[in-house]
Amino acid sequence: MSLYLTDTHCHLNLLDPSLLAEGEQTLLDHTLREGVGRIVCIGVDRDTQSEVLGWAERHAQVFATVGVHPNHVSEAEDWVWLKEVADHPKVVAIGETGLDYHYGAEHAVLQQESFRRHIDLAKELNLPLVVHTREARADTLALLAHAGRRGGVMHCFTEDWDTARKAMDMGFYISFSGVVSFRNADNLRDVLRRVPEDRILLETDAPWLAPVPHRSKPNRPAWVRHVAEVVATVRSLPIDRVAAITSENAERLFGFSTLCNLGAESVGSDQFAAE
Ligand SMILES: [Zn+2]
Repeated sequence: MSLYLTDTHCHLNLLDPSLLAEGEQTLLDHTLREGVGRIVCIGVDRDTQSEVLGWAERHAQVFATVGVHPNHVSEAEDWVWLKEVADHPKVVAIGETGLDYHYGAEHAVLQQESFRRHIDLAKELNLPLVVHTREARADTLALLAHAGRRGGVMHCFTEDWDTARKAMDMGFYISFSGVVSFRNADNLRDVLRRVPEDRILLETDAPWLAPVPHRSKPNRPAWVRHVAEVVATVRSLPIDRVAAITSENAERLFGFSTLCNLGAESVGSDQFAAE
C-alpha cells in the first residue's frame, strides 16, 4: 500500500549522524519509500536556523519554519533576524515558539516576550504558528488569544481535552507525536479519539520521542508511520485514510503546494518528482 504521510515537525539538522552516513538524499529517498512525502523542518534558534533553511533549499519535499524555542530564548535576541528569515520562500510557519516552565519559571517573562513577538510576526506575515507548551497551559492559552485567525499547530500535544478544545476554538490544529504510542498515554489517546478529523496532524519531533516499537532509539521522519498506525487503531480507520486526511490537513494549514511552484523556480530543486 502506498502512503503519503507528512511529518509536520522534525529537526532534520539534529538527526543522529548515523542516519546521514549515506547522505541526505539517501535518507529522504528511504523516508519517501516508507510513505513520508513531506517534512517540515523546525527552527529553534538563530545559530542553527541556516541549517534548517539549508535542508529546505536542497530538497523540494522539505519545508522550513523560523523561530526561537522557549528553552533557547536569551536576553540578547535582537528579533530583526526573525522577520528577515521569515521571508524565505520555503518558510511555511513561525516557530517553534511558546512556553516551557518545566525547568522552572525563571525565564517565564523572557519566554512570554519571545512568544508575543512570534505571535505578532505570524499575524503580520499571515503565517501559522508552531507552538510548544509544557507545564504552561494557562499562560500559553492566554497569549494565544492574541494570535489572530490564521491559527497554527499545538505541536507534540500532551495536554488534556479541555486544552485541545480551547486551542481548536482559536483555530489551532492538534499534532500527535510518538508519545501517543506510549503505554501510559491512555489520556492522550482519549484526546485523539475526540479531536475532529480535520484538525489532526502527525509528527515525529525527531530526533526525540521515538514511537513504539522503537522507543529510546534516535527518532527519524519515517517513523511518523507508527504514529499514523496508532491514529488508525484508535479511530478505527484504515492507515491510508489517516495518511490522506492528515496530509490534507497539513496542506491546508501550511499551504505547501503554493510554495512548491515558488520553490521549484527559486530553489531550483530537481528532486520534486522523486518516485
Ligand atoms: Zn521541536
